[in-house]
This record gives sequence, C-alpha cells and structure tokens, in this order.
Amino acid sequence: MKLREIYKNTGNVKISFEVFPPKDEEKTQNLFDELEILKKFNPSFVSLTWGAGGNENKSTELVKEIKNIGLDVTPHFTCVCSTKEFVKSHIEKLKDLNIDKILALRGDIPEDKSLCSKDFRYANELVEFLKSKSELSVGVAGYPEGHIETETIEEDIKNLKKKVDAGADAIFTQLFFYNDKFFRYCELVEKQGINIPVIPGIMPILSKKQIDKMTALARITIPNRLLNMIEKYQDNNSDMQKMGIEYVSEQCEKLIQSEVSGLHFFTLNKSKSTKIILENIL
Ligand code: FAD
Repeated sequence: MKLREIYKNTGNVKISFEVFPPKDEEKTQNLFDELEILKKFNPSFVSLTWGAGGNENKSTELVKEIKNIGLDVTPHFTCVCSTKEFVKSHIEKLKDLNIDKILALRGDIPEDKSLCSKDFRYANELVEFLKSKSELSVGVAGYPEGHIETETIEEDIKNLKKKVDAGADAIFTQLFFYNDKFFRYCELVEKQGINIPVIPGIMPILSKKQIDKMTALARITIPNRLLNMIEKYQDNNSDMQKMGIEYVSEQCEKLIQSEVSGLHFFTLNKSKSTKIILENIL
C-alpha cells in the first residue's frame, strides 16, 4: 500500500518498524525471529535501511524474504554515491518485487569525496528522479532538531520543502527524546506550507553506549530527566532497558494524544523493548 493511503485515515496510529540488513546468516535468522514477534502488532510496513555503498543483492533478497513472511516492505535508498543509471535499474528490481514505496535519502557524505555522485547532490534530486521514472510512493527524512549540516532548523525545513515539492508523500523523522522539539518542528513544517504526514521516529533506549553513539552523530537533545536516569542505570543494562521502556512509552502516549498519524520504531533488529512499549501504549 502506498504511503498516502496508509496515513490517509486518522484515528488509529499506524505502526512501522525499521530494521537493518544483518551481517551474517545467524543474525538474519535472529532478525526473522524478532519480526515474527513484532508481526502481531500489524505493522503497516517494515522499512529496511540501505548501508553506505548499499549491497543491492543482499537488500533485494531481504526484501523478498520479509515479504514472504507476510509483511509489507519500504526499502531505503541513498543516492550520495549513486548514478542515475543505477537508480533506474534499481527501480526495475523493486518493480519486479512488487514494491510500491521507498524511503529516499541522500546518505552521509563519504570521507573520500571522489566517491560522491555526480548525478545527485541532495535527496530532493533523488525524489524528483524517482517520481519521474516510477510510480513509487516516496518517503523522506526529517530532523526535529535540524540536520547536522545546517545552521538553523528554518534552513533545514526550507530544504525539506524541496523534497516535498519534488513529490514526497511522507516524512519520517530522526529519533528525538523531547516531544516539544517534535511539536515545534511540526509547527514550522506546517508554516512552510508542507502538509504531508510527519511520522515520528522512535528509538527504544537500550544502553548508554547506544545513546552516546546516536547523539554523537546527530543533533539530539537529551532532557535532563532522561540524562539523570541514564547516569543512574548505566551499569545495569536490565534496569536501563526498563527505564527506557517507561520513558519511551510515556513519550509515545503523548505523541498519540497529539494525533500523530504513525510511529516509526528504530528496532535495531530487536523486538523486546519495542514489543513492551507497544503493549503499554496500544
Ligand atoms: P538531504 O535531504 O539531502 O539533506 C542533507 C543536508 O543538505 C541537510 O542539511 C539539508 O538541509 C541540506 N540540503 C538538502 N537539500 C538541499 C539543497 N537542495 N540545497 C542545499 N542544501 C540542501 N542513512 C543511510 O545511509 N541509510 C539509511 O537507510 C538511512 N535511513 C534513514 C532513515 C531516517 C528516518 C532518517 C531520519 C535518516 C536516515 N539515514 C540513513 C541518514 C541520512 O542518510 C543522513 O541523515 C544524511 O546525512 C542526510 O540524508 P537526507 O536524505 O536527509 O539528505
């Protein structure tokens, strides 16, 4: 089902799960065990990330296998190192797999700039190309605290508008822990004349290491209350996860009360915390 169709009906929040391609056979089996658990929440789709330099064969195989267990899939695609020719052939592969939606991203600029694409500089160019060459429904990324490369959030939202004008159907956000940042972002997005669904990205808190890694790579504010709890439970992963489940459940409840169209969970290929959060909130 296309993204506009999925998020058309307000009233009940649509759930989606993000996973990444596992490194080996064993981890792939684990991923499928976790997806079997998450399946009972009737997700609208599972999104599959695209690694730097994306391994197309592996990604295509996984898309097929996830579809085979009865789940709809939204593959991601990054254009930062890609060419128009490659995107055209990738579109054909997705068509063969009956895929009708994609998350179109630029990706992070590689250290070796010579690897950068000459065909695509920003995600809006990829969205435009996908829309001109396919019937795919297209999701794009949004950043409630602004993307790390832009000085101001206003500038970032002006650039987001370019993706929307190129034909994006929904915005999936970077994770955040301050709902107020998300609400403010939605206000600014609306002010910019953007009226497609903004789906909050939700990250279950698993460990201090994970939080440190995420916040080092992106603009993500940790509220003092959460910071104190992370400090308190950092040496006990089980208590940390319990605290994380409580914090994120409360966060999701408030988002649902504010009538978001969906919740997009960054599962990190694990079901446990996401499952309990969903049991708490649905
Ligand atoms: P863009 O929208 O192109 O924006 C990049 C920067 O350039 C921003 O600062 C923006 O303000 C600016 N900009 C945009 N357009 C213009 C323009 N026309 N002119 C001037 N400036 C412009 N990465 C992966 O490698 N694989 C994944 O699968 C993946 N999945 C993700 C899923 C989600 C939900 C999110 C939020 C991010 C994901 N990322 C993924 C990370 C993403 O690739 C990086 O954040 C990347 O740095 C930016 O990608 P983008 O599509 O947002 O880029």
